[in-house]
Amino acid sequence: MDVIVAGGSPAGLMTAALLDAAGVRAEVGERGSEPARQSRGTAMHPRTLEVLTMIDAGDGRRISDVPLTQGQWVPDAHCTGLPGLSGYRGPDTPFPFTLTLPQWGTEHAPAVYLDARGVRERHGAEMTTAGQSADEPRVQASAAWHTTRYLIGTDGAHSMVRRAAGTGFGAHSTSWLARTSNTGRRDAASPAWNRSPRAPAARTHMQRTASRSSRP
Ligand SMILES: Cc1cc2nc3c(=O)[nH]c(=O)nc-3n(C[C@H](O)[C@H](O)[C@H](O)COP(=O)(O)OP(=O)(O)OC[C@H]3O[C@@H](n4cnc5c(N)ncnc54)[C@H](O)[C@@H]3O)c2cc1C
Repeated sequence: MDVIVAGGSPAGLMTAALLDAAGVRAEVGERGSEPARQSRGTAMHPRTLEVLTMIDAGDGRRISDVPLTQGQWVPDAHCTGLPGLSGYRGPDTPFPFTLTLPQWGTEHAPAVYLDARGVRERHGAEMTTAGQSADEPRVQASAAWHTTRYLIGTDGAHSMVRRAAGTGFGAHSTSWLARTSNTGRRDAASPAWNRSPRAPAARTHMQRTASRSSRP
């Protein structure tokens, strides 16, 4: 295998799709036994949508077409939902808006592409250790070792790959807690508690915004 991608959420699925589109053999290992359904990302910004247009769905469409049909187009909004943070009329983009849809909708587009292309996405494959053999990276998943030319870590905030590579990451502790839920959808998942890593600037901004909006 040319590339093993650890983690099968938006970054991992898109990485594998872009590699496949470029003719590189890749496979994805995801520890979840099935695609996640809890509330996480709900909005895509213009540059993300532009990346989705880079991949041909194989039926005359781009993989961006389905999310663009399913999501809501919200002008001048940021993914946090706070108004007035972004204006997309200035940048040169065909998508001057934020597209809101649940993260599983975002993941669906590259997952369908990978499936159609026969690119393997293994669920229930937690990668527990990574290292380097003579001249190749290797990774352990479900007790078996796999060698690959490249190992890509898209395994989230507590990345095993980043830890194995000795690459640091500045955000380890939780500084605030938010409750999110999906409402008004037939396919709504259960409410989920989501923790966000330390983000003093964002927190300050949200506090200021909250106090402004509470004025009469
Ligand atoms: C409440 C909330 C709201 C958010 N809203 C937005 C938003 O509107 N827009 C936005 O862009 N972002 C938003 N985010 C951030 C969003 O979660 C990320 O943008 C997105 O999930 C990042 O995708 P990712 O693929 O990098 O990581 P993740 O979604 O974290 O995926 C990592 C994947 O790796 C898997 N994994 C982890 N360890 C291993 C392992 N050892 N072996 C195998 N698999 C492993 C996990 O199971 C997971 O599927 C939000 C986050 C939260 C918590």
